[in-house]
Amino acid sequence: TVSAPVNDCLFCKIVAGEIPGQIVHTTERSIAFRDINPQAPTHVLVVPREHHENVGELGAADPAGLADLVAAAGEVARLEGLAGYRLIFNTGRAGGQTVFHAHGHVLGGKNLDEHLA
Ligand code: 5GP
Ligand code: ZN
Repeated sequence: TVSAPVNDCLFCKIVAGEIPGQIVHTTERSIAFRDINPQAPTHVLVVPREHHENVGELGAADPAGLADLVAAAGEVARLEGLAGYRLIFNTGRAGGQTVFHAHGHVLGGKNLDEHLA
């Protein structure tokens, strides 16, 4: 079941091919494309094809879609040759979310481990 694209949603438009994206991986439920303003050597967004406002809404409404998204992030990391990566879901305006279509940031390609101590 693929929900209708949401008007004026940037990522629905990228999913629909109405706005170009540099796509690196796709599954039946998700697409992954490069962030337009990369914060690391690899910065890829993994996005469910269905519109959900944030990752919590996605997980509640479509657990298999969330599982697909997390697996797709791992596949992106493998394709990009990353030894490790960070998967981030900014949630809500106060959480830094600016596009209100659920997405994970796959960040890697530089040492991220210093921040985890
Ligand atoms: P958020 O802040 O919502 O977690 O992340 C939104 C991300 O979308 C940002 O990292 C931003 O750079 C990226 N972004 C915004 N507009 C576009 C676009 O038109 N194309 C692509 N590929 N990324 C975008
Ligand atoms: Zn959307």
